[in-house]
Amino acid sequence: MRVELLKEIIHSVIGEKSRGLVDLLVDNKNVNEFIIAKKLSLNINQTRNLLYKLLEEGLVSVTRKKNKKKGGWYDHFWTLNLEKSIFKFKSNLMKKIEHLNQLAHARRDNRYYLCETCETEYGEEDALTHEYTCPECGTLLILKDNTKDIVALEKEVAKLERILLEVNEEHSELMEKGQKVKERKLRFEERKKKKEREVKKKERDKLKMSSVKGKKVETKKNTSSRKKK
Ligand SMILES: [Zn+2]
Repeated sequence: MRVELLKEIIHSVIGEKSRGLVDLLVDNKNVNEFIIAKKLSLNINQTRNLLYKLLEEGLVSVTRKKNKKKGGWYDHFWTLNLEKSIFKFKSNLMKKIEHLNQLAHARRDNRYYLCETCETEYGEEDALTHEYTCPECGTLLILKDNTKDIVALEKEVAKLERILLEVNEEHSELMEKGQKVKERKLRFEERKKKKEREVKKKERDKLKMSSVKGKKVETKKNTSSRKKK
């Protein structure tokens, strides 16, 4: 599911040439762009163009490394940004659903007229302006039955809403995973700090002990020297 989803997202940004790119990036981080070019059968400039389009959308990230063999040129390594990709796809889906809902709404609230000869549709106002005859062929316009259109739109909305549900699950799963990783890191950092504090405390205690011993020796010396006087 995730791979199919990602393919659709990447496809929506860079089109047909994206085939294969997701397969390449989904399980690997920091993929060398020359390997990407080879696998996609593109030259390096075409490959970079695609990748930079995805970079602009935040769907991938890139790191550079100096290549000493190539006289200090930089090699670029690309990684898919899973969370951002899903977020992007989600917001696109929501926009589409809203648009379709608006269309269905308009179909319910307004009248549309049809020229059966030209198969052209006119809104109420247009139809009135042309006195309910087709401006192209002169045929009398008929009032359109919107039921079919509305049902089709509603079906499409239902389909997209199902996809959105899946994407939402995918997204929250990913967020949870990310959260767990964050928490693990935090716990690790805390343990490390605690250890460091303990070590420092021991060192301080040692220092205290030795300085107390030193003072005791000093005071003994002082008292003994006073006694002599
Ligand atoms: Zn007509």
